[in-house]
Formats: sequence, C-alpha cells, structure tokens
Amino acid sequence: MASHIDTYQDFPEPGVLFRDITPLLRDPESFHAVIGHWSAILPEQVDLVVGVEARGFVLGAPLAYEMGAGFIPARKAGKLPGAPRSISYDLEYGSAQIEIAVDALPRGARVVVVDDLLATGGTAAATIELVRRFDVELLGVSFLLELEGLGGRDRLPADVPVVTVESVP
Ligand code: IMP
Repeated sequence: MASHIDTYQDFPEPGVLFRDITPLLRDPESFHAVIGHWSAILPEQVDLVVGVEARGFVLGAPLAYEMGAGFIPARKAGKLPGAPRSISYDLEYGSAQIEIAVDALPRGARVVVVDDLLATGGTAAATIELVRRFDVELLGVSFLLELEGLGGRDRLPADVPVVTVESVP
C-alpha cells in the first residue's frame, strides 16, 4: 500500500515533506483494504464515526457505512451552523480550531475518530478531547498513515487505542 502514497518535498511550504494519499484512494483494491483493515480491528459495535476535515471525511464515511454506524464531521472553524462545541489547539505557527455540532454525539455513544494521517498529534489530541466532552465511549482513533518520527502517538491519551494501517519512520 505504501507505493500508493506519494511524497512531495517542500509542500505546502519549504521544509515540509508532504504525504499524499490520493493515489491510494484512486486504487479500488487499496481503498477497500484500508476500510477492511479498520473494521476488522475495531470493536464490532460502533454507533458513530467522527471524521476530521477533510480527508477524515473521505475515509470515515465508508468506514461508518461498512460498520453500520452513523457519520459525524469534525469541521474547521466557522463551517457548522448552530452553536457547535469547539476546541482550539496550537500549530507550529498560530492555532487552529475544530468543531462538532452540539447535538452530534449522544451521551454513552460508542465512537471512533478517523483521520488520514498522524503527524505531530495536535489535531488528533484536540479532536479526542473535544469528543470526550460529549461524555461518549471513545473506542479508538484510526489513521491511514503514522509519521512515527514526529512523535504524535505520545501526545494522545494512553487509554485510547490507536489503529494505523501504515507507518513511516
Ligand atoms: P498533526 O496535527 O501534526 O498530527 O497533523 C495531522 C493533520 O494534518 C491531519 O488532519 C492531516 O490531514 C494533516 N497533515 C499533516 N501532515 C500531512 C501530510 O504530510 N499530508 C497530508 N496531510 C497532512
């Protein structure tokens, strides 16, 4: 599957090594294998899959469908109507915000969080914290690719199972 992930030096800015998962999504066998891998490992009974904008939508929606679960988008600031619950987190330069609709996750729901890639772990750690404010049962967080060298896993709570398909040093 690694052959379906492209690497671009200096994108979107100098010094960044960007991983592009779109060739994998384009390949039906690999796309299917990713969803199959997650659904085989995660607990059977999942109520809701939370996908992180934007590639977490592309991966989270088919996982939810496969598991007979519903799908909830975790969106960037200002995209959700109503008064969403919101969390800010630090980026290398500046900060970002993630939001989930206020009534999206009922108390006690069995929830999985999905994103394409675990890098420094800031996005996932913030999403996990936001999801837990809803008083749900967080069953795990799934990534397609983990960039091990950035230590993202160490920023995630130790009691949340992490499911990755591939990792690179
Ligand atoms: P982190 O917060 O540093 O772990 O970065 C993870 C978030 O940024 C995820 O939502 C990814 O989609 C995005 N991201 C970070 N690096 C890359 C990359 O190399 N390719 C694609 N997305 C990335």
